Amino acid sequence: MQCPVCDSRDNDVRFELVRTPQGEINDISICKSCIALFNSTLYSQIESGSLNNQEHQIESAELAYPLASDAAGIEHIGREVAGHSFIVDLARSFIGEVEDLTLLEVGFGPGYGLLAAAKAFKYVHGVDLGLQPFRAVCDVVGKPDNVSVSTELSSIDKQAHVVVGWHVLEHLPNPVEFMSAIVATMAPGGIVMFQVPMLCPQYVESVHFIFYTDASITKLMDRVGIDRVDVLYDHMNLFLTFIGKLRSKSESDI
Ligand SMILES: [Zn+2]
Repeated sequence: MQCPVCDSRDNDVRFELVRTPQGEINDISICKSCIALFNSTLYSQIESGSLNNQEHQIESAELAYPLASDAAGIEHIGREVAGHSFIVDLARSFIGEVEDLTLLEVGFGPGYGLLAAAKAFKYVHGVDLGLQPFRAVCDVVGKPDNVSVSTELSSIDKQAHVVVGWHVLEHLPNPVEFMSAIVATMAPGGIVMFQVPMLCPQYVESVHFIFYTDASITKLMDRVGIDRVDVLYDHMNLFLTFIGKLRSKSESDI
């Protein structure tokens, strides 16, 4: 098949067959050009029409964020928001002070990251497929004036200096199109921070299309004009975080 990351054709081989947590056997392939690993079983299901990814992703997100009253308690939300302040610290470590800057988070779920960022950034935007988990949180703690949310990237009216995507890219069968749309929202010199799971059996599930490696996420970002700054490893959880910087126009022309 055509590699969803680097577009090279028929350059993939089977990497391994993996038993998913649900007990299904999925066929994981690797692109020999960019070293992306992808779930061929899911791509076949999309091609045959048996999987509607957009609907499937929304359904599984609703399952992931149950709106039980105990989960939406004010203390719980406060702890979650405090626990997400690492996003601000991470951004500061790569871009410096942020009080005049705009942050965009894609795939924000219940929005704890947005609420943490709202305490430090001038403006905070969130884009997700569904807004209900965030609305439920705001019903409890209120929505800060500097936060806006939408289901469409095209509705963003301020350029983003920092783009955060935590566990988003692996859900997208066609990530290049998505990252191009992200770049269109970014301010010159802006940075991106994208975290994804690494390949291991517990993360092989029906909503994860691609497992990125350092080489393949760098290739994806390079294609849309983002240079690799660093790749951070969370060895406890088997996550990888790509940090990148938007290439300036003059650098792109060279
Ligand atoms: Zn590839």
